[in-house]
This record gives sequence, structure tokens and C-alpha cells, in this order.
Amino acid sequence: MTQPLESYIRNIPDFPIPGIQFKDITTLLRDGAALHRAIDVFVERYKDQKIEAIVAIESRGFIFGAPLAYALGIGLVPVRKAGKLPADTHRLEYALEYGTATLEIHKDAFPTGARVIVIDDLLATGGTIAAACQLVAQAGGQVVEAAFLIELAGLAGRERLGNHPIYAQITY
Ligand code: AMP
Repeated sequence: MTQPLESYIRNIPDFPIPGIQFKDITTLLRDGAALHRAIDVFVERYKDQKIEAIVAIESRGFIFGAPLAYALGIGLVPVRKAGKLPADTHRLEYALEYGTATLEIHKDAFPTGARVIVIDDLLATGGTIAAACQLVAQAGGQVVEAAFLIELAGLAGRERLGNHPIYAQITY
């Protein structure tokens, strides 16, 4: 694979609503070498950091979180939309551009103090990742870094996350 990963991302204007530049990752996912490279970059970054769990955000975070956890030989913890997790959860409602959303994590997801990476496909306003990081803290985990394939700079997602370190492979 010689092209940069960024060239595999497709921009779809006005999806799902007018004014949004939607970053379509399916054009990266369907290419075996590009998908492999995207996962490998995360693996290289985290393999020596004594990470104890990967926390993946529903649903595109699962795509990157599961192979990363597998490669590191550690567990995967899902952060899911409301009503999907069957056991006792912490739940958090947060503001979207229009309306609100609710995320949940199992209370017994990991041991207290566990060093975790929280992963999603894309950082936009930061509302989703900020809520996920709060849930990790409530469940007793320690966020070592928030990881993304893509960051949309200029939407102040980083500011929203306060002092959590952030890593993105591609920045627009
Ligand atoms: P936010 O909470 O604003 O940081 O939004 C992040 C979530 O919304 C991620 O899970 C993304 O999958 C999705 N998302 C937001 N904006 C876009 C965009 N322009 N293109 C693709 N996905 C997006």
C-alpha cells in the first residue's frame, strides 16, 4: 500500500443532512491493505503502553477496537447506545447538535484503575468521546488516550475533552 490512508476516505457532502461533510470510511474498510495498515498503526502505538482494555464506542468504534484488542491480547469493552447492555450500567445523556443521546457502560467492565484506550472512528464536536471518557471514569478506569482514525479539526473536539490525550491518524 503506497497511497496515504487519507486517500481511502470518501467525502459525501450533505449527508445525512445539508451542511454536513460526511467522512465515509467504507472505502477504506473494503480495501484489505488499507484496513490492515489502519489497525497496525494503532497496534504499534499502544503495544508497549501496558494497556489493559480497549473501550470501543458503538458502532464504528467497534470496527477498529475489536482487532486492536485482539492484536494486543487484551479485552474489548463496548460503550453502547441506551438499552443495549444487559447487566448493571452507568449511563450518561449528552447533548448533540440536535437533541440528546445516551451512552452506557457495564459497571463491572474492568478492574478499578485499569489503563484503557477509548476508540472511535471520528472526532467531530467531541460530545461522544467526552461522554465515553466520563463513563470510563465512573466505571473506575483510567483513560490513557482517546484514539481515532479521523479528527475533524476546527469543531473544538479537543477542547471538549479537557486534559485527555488525543491521537488521530488523519486530520482534516
Ligand atoms: P461528535 O460527538 O460530534 O464528536 O461526533 C462523533 C460521532 O459522530 C462519531 O461516532 C462519528 O462516527 C460521527 N460523525 C460525526 N460527524 C461526522 C462526519 N462528518 N462524518 C462521519 N461521521 C461523523
